[in-house]
Amino acid sequence: MDRYAVIGNPIAHSKSPRIHTLFARQTGQALSYEALLAPLDGFIQTVTAFQAAGGCGLNVTVPFKLEAFDYADHHTARARAAGAVNTLAFRPDGVLGDNTDGAGILRDITVNLGCPVAGRRVLLLGAGGAARGSVLPLLDASPATLTIANRTPGKAAELADEFARGGQPGPNGCGFAELAGQEFDVVINATSASLSDAAPDLPPGLYAPGSLAYDMMYGKGDTPFLAAARSQGAAHLSDGLGMLVEQAAESFLLWRHIRPDTASVLAELRAGL
Ligand code: NDP
Repeated sequence: MDRYAVIGNPIAHSKSPRIHTLFARQTGQALSYEALLAPLDGFIQTVTAFQAAGGCGLNVTVPFKLEAFDYADHHTARARAAGAVNTLAFRPDGVLGDNTDGAGILRDITVNLGCPVAGRRVLLLGAGGAARGSVLPLLDASPATLTIANRTPGKAAELADEFARGGQPGPNGCGFAELAGQEFDVVINATSASLSDAAPDLPPGLYAPGSLAYDMMYGKGDTPFLAAARSQGAAHLSDGLGMLVEQAAESFLLWRHIRPDTASVLAELRAGL
């Protein structure tokens, strides 16, 4: 049987084995998918051993996405833009590194939630790995504007500058305070503030009528960011469980050349939260 796994530290909490097992069952693919705990200083040894034992591919999660980028021989354009890899495919011509996080969030927002990005004002909060992986897919979806705002403003400006294209200015990069007086149609929280049970410290009035507030973090009930967005008048709210399932589906597609149906898997995961 073809072997796949998700590698990280910690890893016991990962929902990826459940998601990929459901994908495999649904598509009739004969594969196994496990959770692989790598020592913090042992990513390369763990991956090499998995590959040598016949492994076909890996998902990569915290804190190894940068090491996975270095491990790959070839990269997709979106992995290069993200500067990080969450999917490795072991192929005869070498190791391919991909990043499916950005495609996952875009598909969740535009397809699952039915919320267009084209022509709309998009605000991306955060300038860490998850935000970085989302910039290229968001720009490719042709928003009217893309603003990247971060607690440490310089990091948002740096990230925005990386995406200036062909003489055209890139996204706007700024701190939270500079958002005052602006309105957005789609607001994405790619900060890890929810992990410490906090919401980013944003000025009021950011949510345009009909706007979507999207938190990459997920869980039962509103995250702190979604609770704040609700009280600020965001019309639509979503956590990031759909992104998790969609980025997994993109990895599955890369490995198996078949796109699983995500709706039933998302519903099953949601019921289990
Ligand atoms: P990083 O550690 O790379 O980046 C963290 C970011 O959050 C930085 O921009 C940091 O700002 C900001 N931040 C941290 N605490 C606060 C706070 N209290 N207030 C405001 N900003 C804060 O994390 P990742 O980018 O890897 O992950 C971000 C989030 O996305 C996590 O919650 C993660 O769980 C989620 N995620 C979800 C996925 C999914 O499939 N649903 C996939 C990937 C990530 P500063 O630069 O100032 O430190």
